[in-house]
Amino acid sequence: MTLTGQCRCTAVHYTLATDAPLAVYACHCRDCQTWSGSAFALHALMPSETISHEGPVTHYAYDADGQHSIHTLCSVCHTRLYNTTSAAPGMLVLRAGTLDHSPSLQPVAHIWIKHKQPWLMLPEGIATWPQSPTPQAFAQALQASETAPEVR
Ligand SMILES: [Zn+2]
Ligand SMILES: [Zn+2]
Repeated sequence: MTLTGQCRCTAVHYTLATDAPLAVYACHCRDCQTWSGSAFALHALMPSETISHEGPVTHYAYDADGQHSIHTLCSVCHTRLYNTTSAAPGMLVLRAGTLDHSPSLQPVAHIWIKHKQPWLMLPEGIATWPQSPTPQAFAQALQASETAPEVR
């Protein structure tokens, strides 16, 4: 299965080489709200080598809470496409809303819901954490996503 996506202006296209269902989660932290200009950010965690992209990109790097993050964005329209972080070596965090098939995505977990917008109702039974889960707890929730409909 090959998944594709692009930035807002379409100067940058990417493909994901993966057969695994995407582990999509929503982050409701204040940083994601500010950065997306929205209520939450939709992320998908995957091995770094999964993505290949074409087109002009630029990078934004910063340090916070002892973690070093590098964001990759379109150098024309500045849509953020993905980031890597020293907290998860070898992995990348895709901005899942940039996928061409994003309407079919089913988030399997919601994190930082202590900052969730009060009007937003989450589905019953979905995994949630007030802040960031432990890596172990998070991996368990993402594995449970195999019961979720497969992304096509
Ligand atoms: Zn662009
Ligand atoms: Zn966040």
